[in-house]
Amino acid sequence: MDKRVETLLSLEMPYRERMRLQRSVFRGGDGPRVAVVAGIHGDELEGLYLCHRLAAWLDALAERRPGALLGTIELYPALNPLGLDTLARTVPPYGVDLNRSFPGHARGVLPQRIAAATMTALAGCALVVDVHASNIYLREIPQVRINHVFAESLLPYARRMNLDVIWLHGAVTVLEATIAHSLNEAGVPALVVEMGVGMRLTPVYTEQLITGLLNVWQGLGVLAADLELAPVTHEPRLAHEDNVHYLNAATSGLFVPEVEHWKAVRAGGLLGHIVSPMEGRRLAEVRSPCDGVLFTLREYPLVYEGSLMARVVADAEPENGESA
Ligand SMILES: [Zn+2]
Repeated sequence: MDKRVETLLSLEMPYRERMRLQRSVFRGGDGPRVAVVAGIHGDELEGLYLCHRLAAWLDALAERRPGALLGTIELYPALNPLGLDTLARTVPPYGVDLNRSFPGHARGVLPQRIAAATMTALAGCALVVDVHASNIYLREIPQVRINHVFAESLLPYARRMNLDVIWLHGAVTVLEATIAHSLNEAGVPALVVEMGVGMRLTPVYTEQLITGLLNVWQGLGVLAADLELAPVTHEPRLAHEDNVHYLNAATSGLFVPEVEHWKAVRAGGLLGHIVSPMEGRRLAEVRSPCDGVLFTLREYPLVYEGSLMARVVADAEPENGESA
């Protein structure tokens, strides 16, 4: 197994230090190439830890079964290094969302150059997984998000990713300047994973995703078919625009949840309260609009009227039921 760190973009900074965009490459044989990209948003760290854990797993594999890596695995932990270094979600000093800058320009401004270099580096991959960690406000159960445009080709991968939800987005929510959309447009299959919460690590989610990734990579022929892996145990629920319910704050205050994340909820069941920091009374009750599972839960308690507090994916209608 050949292991190296490669630089895909190196730019002189104003004070003459260099910004380097780097990837760790683990090459076994001539089999397919796959990649994990992370750190597009500088306040999301779950994907960085995932890259560490995958690198550790690959190091151990090199000792245990050096011939079991048949292809190449590439890890891109930090696509927005300046944002990560300074705890900025966007790309400093531009304030530009890197995930709205794809496919980019090689002669453009910094975010566009990062995007262009990344697109070039990922060309030819059999599968790219772009890992996000929500934001600092909302905690997400591990989920794959797919644009319906590419659903047919991506759903088979998504189903084996060992995650809890596959969220299929409709045409109106397609964001064309994202890395995943640009890669899929260019013929490189790319999945978006959202899990955990900004500025924090959730190791149990990381291990869950690793199991899925390794099984999918084995299916692609990146890992030897006889390599024993932990089995996929999570069956994803399919979420889409008709069965995802958003709970927005009726008033400003402090949101105090009464339930755990990823819990079954009943229609009308109490999920939490909005309370006043000024006085002893509760300002609003937050109740579930349907039977389902809570897959998004607010982590940052201050809310304004209209702030998102939770999302519930409704239970499936009984089979053979009347469909509208
Ligand atoms: Zn993100």
